[in-house]
Amino acid sequence: MIIDSGKFNVIAGPCSVENEEQIIEIAKSIKESGASFLRGGAFKMRTSPYSFQGLGLEGLKYLKIAKKVAKIPIVSEITDLRYIDEYEDVDIIQVGTRNMQNYEMLKELGKTKKTILLKRGFANTIEEWLMSVEYIMRGGNEKIILCERGIRTFETQTRNTLDISAIPIIKRKCKLPIIIDPSHAAGAKYLVEPLSKAAIAIGADGLMIEVHNNPKEALSDGEQSLDLKEFKKMMDKLKILIEFNNKNKGDKR
Ligand code: PEP
Ligand code: MN
Repeated sequence: MIIDSGKFNVIAGPCSVENEEQIIEIAKSIKESGASFLRGGAFKMRTSPYSFQGLGLEGLKYLKIAKKVAKIPIVSEITDLRYIDEYEDVDIIQVGTRNMQNYEMLKELGKTKKTILLKRGFANTIEEWLMSVEYIMRGGNEKIILCERGIRTFETQTRNTLDISAIPIIKRKCKLPIIIDPSHAAGAKYLVEPLSKAAIAIGADGLMIEVHNNPKEALSDGEQSLDLKEFKKMMDKLKILIEFNNKNKGDKR
């Protein structure tokens, strides 16, 4: 499973898989709205050890059930190589911001045939990010998608600062697809749509959006999650921009 860089792909779903019904409901709805992948965290890398840590293997099980029921490929983060075999039916394995420089993990993922979604470390340069790409590629796995999810700066209005210039820079330096995660970059749902529009305009290959069936009650990242209706509404607007972009693809930026 690889994101085709000719097509604009939207990965959507909750920060954390919370139960079977939740993930199935979200899977069906986001697919209907035009998303091509379902995301859902089972093992969560939370800043605080007192925050919800994810359902673990049970969460992965529900995500795989949602994949079958809604007929949609799935994306989930790996945090511990001991569970690598459990990711056999996961279409894209995500490496989160905190593990971008977990080199032993990257080397092992390089030996697999899985597509790896490599998020940028929140305090890493583009050069360091591309070195992490090399760690995976050296093992023989070249199926890598990069994801810009915001970096830490002095600004406090947002959770992170979306480094929008990373997209054309990466495009200049390599041929890998690059997507934007406006949800973790912004940390606030009102910013998700404008940042998504910017992602399309600047030539990103896709988006990763946090969507929840009841954001107010979400066990993690509810404040930045769109509900199902908000996601549909945003997708309807984005589709117009994506089509416009596709029509003008021949034009040099
Ligand atoms: C996530 O996508 O669930 C996540 C935790 O993102 P990040 O690693 O970018 O914080
Ligand atoms: Mn999250």
